[in-house]
Amino acid sequence: MTEESGKKDAGSRQGMLLVLSGPAGAGKSTVLRSVVENDPKVRFSVSCTTRPAREEEVNGRDYHFLSEQEFADKLEAGEFLEHAGVHKWSYGTLRSSVADLIGDGFDVIMDIDVQGAAQIRACNDPLIARSRVDIFLMPADTGELEQRLRARGSEDDESFRLRMESAIEELRHWQHYTYRILSSTRESDYQSFMTILQAERLRVGRWL
Ligand code: 5GP
Repeated sequence: MTEESGKKDAGSRQGMLLVLSGPAGAGKSTVLRSVVENDPKVRFSVSCTTRPAREEEVNGRDYHFLSEQEFADKLEAGEFLEHAGVHKWSYGTLRSSVADLIGDGFDVIMDIDVQGAAQIRACNDPLIARSRVDIFLMPADTGELEQRLRARGSEDDESFRLRMESAIEELRHWQHYTYRILSSTRESDYQSFMTILQAERLRVGRWL
């Protein structure tokens, strides 16, 4: 489906800002990839990061990979809707990469950490306040999380330890979210996400 036909389908509904958080290894990217692939009205918000790209990652598709200086310049210029330090790297969402899409009726998914989600919740911009929906994807248990993180194989010991620590810290924040999905199979996580998405789309306020 093209961008144009996506807009047409969306009619006069304002898009949503779907904030998806949860510890690394909980399955966020799998869920959001399936949602973006299967629903033409959904777009992924490509974040900026100072983290180096992993082998399979593509600049502009997975992230905008920036130098520390480029990130600092954008921060200084007020271009970020939210930003945070995660592990030893900086991450942030450009305001421009979500506002236009939402205005055009697309639902935008942000894969962001709990600090970024708190900033989105506190944001007074009427477009953001009206469109945000926050969802926490939680692993069934920490043993499973550890297994998934180890299976990635892209981590050295130090990165792995840092990720496990911040995963456990992130888990403490699930109560701040409107929705929680307890991770099960890929299909079940996807279905839970779509159930939330479809119900939220029916809210009368989104059509006014
Ligand atoms: P990774 O380095 O594994 O891609 O992501 C590490 C963490 O950073 C994940 O929990 C992810 O949700 C978070 N993250 C990715 N992009 C952003 C962003 O733009 N803002 C914030 N606050 N967190 C982000």
